[in-house]
Amino acid sequence: MVEDCLFCKIVHGEIPSEFLYEDEECVVFRDINPHAPVHLLIVPKRHIRSINDLEHGDASLVGRMFLVAKKMAEAENINKSGYKVLFNVEKGGGQVIFHLHLHLIGGWDRK
Ligand code: AMP
Ligand code: ZN
Repeated sequence: MVEDCLFCKIVHGEIPSEFLYEDEECVVFRDINPHAPVHLLIVPKRHIRSINDLEHGDASLVGRMFLVAKKMAEAENINKSGYKVLFNVEKGGGQVIFHLHLHLIGGWDRK
């Protein structure tokens, strides 16, 4: 847990948020400022700043994040219509919360 990290506070329940999914390594909640009808964030419980800070031992965590994204796309019924998954990396890449998170964005044309 990193002090002053918003997503650490959410993960540890210090800021209330509704988790749509939780396992031992990550949680999923809705983006507070959605860019699409469905906009979820897949967030590891452990604080990792960005993709730049990933190490070899994190390979299974990152793989899990994509599998959770797939599961959530099915749960939100956007898997057939299609969606985007996206990591913003550091300021120039549009990252504003420096705790790793995978965006799952879609639902423009839910079928
Ligand atoms: P990024 O630009 O990749 O760092 O994305 C950070 C995302 O976190 C943005 O899409 C914000 O809308 C979202 N966000 C910021 N604060 C909260 C919050 N308290 N709960 C849920 N999402 C948040
Ligand atoms: Zn954090």
